Amino acid sequence: MQKDLPRLMRDPNLFPSEKQTLLSNIADQAASLDMPCYLVGGFVRDLLLNQPVNDFDIVVEGDAIELGAALVKKYGGKLTPHTKFRTAIWHLPSSFIIYPSSLDLITARKETYSRLGALPTIKPSTIDDDLRRRDFTINAMAVRLDGDHFGELLDPLNGQADLEKKIIRVLHPRSLMDDPTRIFRAIRYMTRYSFILHPSSVILINLESLSILNSLSGERIRHEFDLIFEEENSAQMLARLNELGIFNAFDPSLPKFIDQYAKLLNSNPPAEFGVSANRVILGYSLWLMDSSLDVVKAIAKRLDFNSELREASLAVVQLKKDLHSLKKISPSQWTFRLEKIPLIAVYAIWLVSNETALKEFLVKWRHIKSGITGDDLKARGIPTGPRYKEILSQLRAARLDGEIKNDKEEEELLNTLL
Ligand code: ATP
Repeated sequence: MQKDLPRLMRDPNLFPSEKQTLLSNIADQAASLDMPCYLVGGFVRDLLLNQPVNDFDIVVEGDAIELGAALVKKYGGKLTPHTKFRTAIWHLPSSFIIYPSSLDLITARKETYSRLGALPTIKPSTIDDDLRRRDFTINAMAVRLDGDHFGELLDPLNGQADLEKKIIRVLHPRSLMDDPTRIFRAIRYMTRYSFILHPSSVILINLESLSILNSLSGERIRHEFDLIFEEENSAQMLARLNELGIFNAFDPSLPKFIDQYAKLLNSNPPAEFGVSANRVILGYSLWLMDSSLDVVKAIAKRLDFNSELREASLAVVQLKKDLHSLKKISPSQWTFRLEKIPLIAVYAIWLVSNETALKEFLVKWRHIKSGITGDDLKARGIPTGPRYKEILSQLRAARLDGEIKNDKEEEELLNTLL
């Protein structure tokens, strides 16, 4: 079925009007430089699916840095050029009230893989070559923007037909060997859109591509898991990866995602918890919390976790293990224990356990401090040193445990401690 792309691109419900204006400015500039200019990939795919689009990358046949420089000259803002790849980031001037406030300008390119699984070698080329370097037919369409060509669809690999048939299909038989991270991408799209992976692509997930996957850096694979946790149906995606043998091929100690945690992935911390939402860290926390500390340490190394993610992942494992023995301790003991770990880890364990003390800690206890401060102790002539910390903790503990209720009682307690 032929879709009216120009109409879809002008529909403010699908594509915000302020972005349409920005795009037409870019297209005019490209036309005046005689540079064919396109939107590619997810933008075209989602628009053809009648889904709202927000992000876009501009691809030009010509030199994206030259286009960027002309745009900065005309509209302002700043350009960060990458001469090696002939790409540029245009940091928009404040006159464009648009989020994100920068966009990528890319020179159409051809890619070759010197070694399977390695990052590709790139050279400037045509839009046709640029589409042929892509992952799936549904992502290998472009829509032209400049001049009279506005809204023309380029679809050399029949992506639109696959979109209609709800099929994810790689572009050539070596695709998953060139870049096995495409297996993750395939599963993301299949699950997100309820599409199937074409049988001719399924058979490419085989011993050969999986062994190349195993040779990829932890960072590349972790990035794919991060993207999965950004999605709504991440648990289902992980289950599919596992079924296809991806966990086993990359690191057999990667655990199965526990079904009953799936619905927790999309939960948002209540405002009163004061925990910043972080889908990715929450996702890994729920995924790994029932593994052993040693296994999680090894996974953190293999997947090249940054320190924040490593800390949270280890904290959830330890806290979940300790939870039973912590049940009978006082609020101050809870507080001193929980203060050492990231809030998101406390939240993750609360989600799975519903332990009231964790909620109390997040909402109340962690904000309770002693009224007396170090300065007060100094004013009383107490020599500075480790004793300060001891005294202040004792005062805070007494507050937390309800042994003292006000400043007067705290003063009295202080006097007994000195
Ligand atoms: P999403 O909605 O998941 O963000 P997207 O299409 O915008 O979808 P990006 O990851 O931003 O996805 O990539 C932009 C485009 O770059 C893709 O549509 C695809 O054409 C191409 N691409 C991205 N990753 C790869 C890859 N590993 N191999 C080949 N092409 C890729």
